[in-house]
Amino acid sequence: PAAGERGGEKAEKIFVSVRLRPLSEKELAANDPCDWECINDTTIIFRNNLSERSMSPTACTFDRVFRSDCTTKQVYEEGAKEVALSVVSGINSTIFAYGQTSSGKTYTMTGITEYTALDIYEYILKHHERAFVLKFSAIEIYNEAVKDLLSADSAPLRLLDDPEKGTVIEKLTEEILKDWNHLKALISVCEAQRKIGETTLNETSSRSHQILRLTVESCAREFLGKDNSSTLVASVNFVDLAGSERASQALSAGTRLKEGCHINRSLLTLGSVIRKLSKGRNGHIPYRDSKLTRILQPSLGGNARTAIICTMSPARSHIEQSRNTLLFASCAK
Ligand code: ADP
Ligand code: MG
Repeated sequence: PAAGERGGEKAEKIFVSVRLRPLSEKELAANDPCDWECINDTTIIFRNNLSERSMSPTACTFDRVFRSDCTTKQVYEEGAKEVALSVVSGINSTIFAYGQTSSGKTYTMTGITEYTALDIYEYILKHHERAFVLKFSAIEIYNEAVKDLLSADSAPLRLLDDPEKGTVIEKLTEEILKDWNHLKALISVCEAQRKIGETTLNETSSRSHQILRLTVESCAREFLGKDNSSTLVASVNFVDLAGSERASQALSAGTRLKEGCHINRSLLTLGSVIRKLSKGRNGHIPYRDSKLTRILQPSLGGNARTAIICTMSPARSHIEQSRNTLLFASCAK
């Protein structure tokens, strides 16, 4: 196949952006300076007093770079909207937040999820010629165990191979959304579930992956109830990843992945899947090596669309993790 094509289907490039958060009160109080500067909409450079004397600043270029004074609305509009809204046209998509703990993943992803849902509802209002059904589900992956965030039952869910749908999550709760307020309430349930997990399993949010999924089904009204084949179904996944320090710790330790070290397995497998997809390779893509990538397979690669927002702390004390994040971002684009 020609460049940019994968398995006969036209491959979409992964849209990679970087978001620098502002220095926190704590970092300001500790005199922890900012070493990064976004010199334009696509370039971030490392600049501090030491490096200016000893070496030239390193510039990294991405599809989009968001300065620390950018709002989440801007990040959504320019870094995620187009990819996320492809769901209304029947195209699966995934938006990732990648970065170390405290870099702003949850802050960014929460806003993006809400803006997307608002835009989907607006789209529905403008397209009376079609009938829409919106569904919502939410899971957490911790230690390669999949948990339903909309169920009080904390028993891990099994993944099954469906000949038609691919990997499906057995017994996953899927709520049919009544309206926007219903969705807001369900997202609050997920947040509460995650917090419960956090107190029992010490700092889960830095170790677990959260996937919120909106599924859009639509059918032209003239075919409603007559012709199921004309129904479009697609999902958009909002993925708040485990802290990326989990991946680099595993790598820097230089050891094989151990039992009980599975958080890293999903993160590391995602890294290699993304790297392979971004190179447009036709060869084997190791989706099946982790729960996260198995679950996301229908929404990663193929004609699915992907955006990654790499969140970064500006503080000098986080320099090593910030460099790792930019390295990941460079490999993804
Ligand atoms: P993570 O999910 O990556 O661990 P959070 O999203 O919880 O990080 O962010 C850590 C803290 O920084 C939170 O208190 C959050 O409100 C704040 N924060 C993150 N990004 C921003 C931003 N762009 N602007 C203002 N505050 C932010
Ligand atoms: Mg978080």
